[in-house]
Amino acid sequence: MKDIATPNRTKDILERHGFSFKKSLGQNFLIDTNVLNRIVDFAELGPDTGAIEIGPGIGALTEQLAKRAQKVVAFEIDQRLLPILADTLEPYENVSVIHSDILKADVHEAIRQEFREGQDIMVVANLPYYVTTPILFKLLEDKLPIRGIVAMMQKEVADRLAAAPGTKEYGSLSIAIQYYTEAETVMTVPRTVFVPQPNVDSAVIRLLKRPQPLVQVQDEAFFFEVVRSSFAQRRKTLINNLSNNLGSLSLPKEQLEGILQETGIDPKRRGETLSIAEFGKLSDALYTHKK
Ligand code: SAM
Repeated sequence: MKDIATPNRTKDILERHGFSFKKSLGQNFLIDTNVLNRIVDFAELGPDTGAIEIGPGIGALTEQLAKRAQKVVAFEIDQRLLPILADTLEPYENVSVIHSDILKADVHEAIRQEFREGQDIMVVANLPYYVTTPILFKLLEDKLPIRGIVAMMQKEVADRLAAAPGTKEYGSLSIAIQYYTEAETVMTVPRTVFVPQPNVDSAVIRLLKRPQPLVQVQDEAFFFEVVRSSFAQRRKTLINNLSNNLGSLSLPKEQLEGILQETGIDPKRRGETLSIAEFGKLSDALYTHKK
């Protein structure tokens, strides 16, 4: 039998099951086995690795994961795809499909049920583009016992996640992701390898979880508030953004200026020039003034 991710087999599966795409669920299916194999290569799966997939669709990526991982657990929101997946993945005994919105799923519990304690686990997905960042944040903030995530997304989003300080893509999203992971765009993907073709280009990003967050701060929530405030208006200086937007700590502008200077950060710099380590130092310096 041919792989699922070929134009003819995909067309045949869709026709046989009378499936119609739901744009609102970000349904763009991959029809190129080479692209899929490269995605799976980047996940560096061993025969004992467990794979978690989000949004299996008709099983194009699931099939390639099933061939190389010990087991695949896939979360799919669209009930109409369940009988199709039961059909297309029938030859693979190491796949479990869970009918659930990944944003509402108890992934810790699924991991406990489906994998062994201490097993190497990777998340691999061609993500629905309308919820890429909420999904990534859920996976990272839930502090799941995973090695990392290899995910396809809109290229523009991937560029922001992996951006370095001083670039126009660098912002609070880059910092939040890089706080938890080492982020790298590993591949760009043309729109021609999907049905239907999306109207944006795509990229695959690899996020490898850091053993410790990139900076050790006194208060994580406050650190993220400082970061978000610093980027509230990109064209404004750090001092202006902090004095206008730092809701949980209101200090006179002069005092804020003094704290920035003591920390060795020029108040006239823009947020986009600060490294994550500098944001850590700044957040801790400001935190000492919180009651
Ligand atoms: N993995 C397949 C492939 O590569 O061909 C399909 C990828 S398609 C871009 C995204 C998939 O995610 C669709 O199957 C869609 O139904 C599913 N999906 C959308 N929102 C979801 C959610 N919140 N939770 C779980 N699956 C979701």
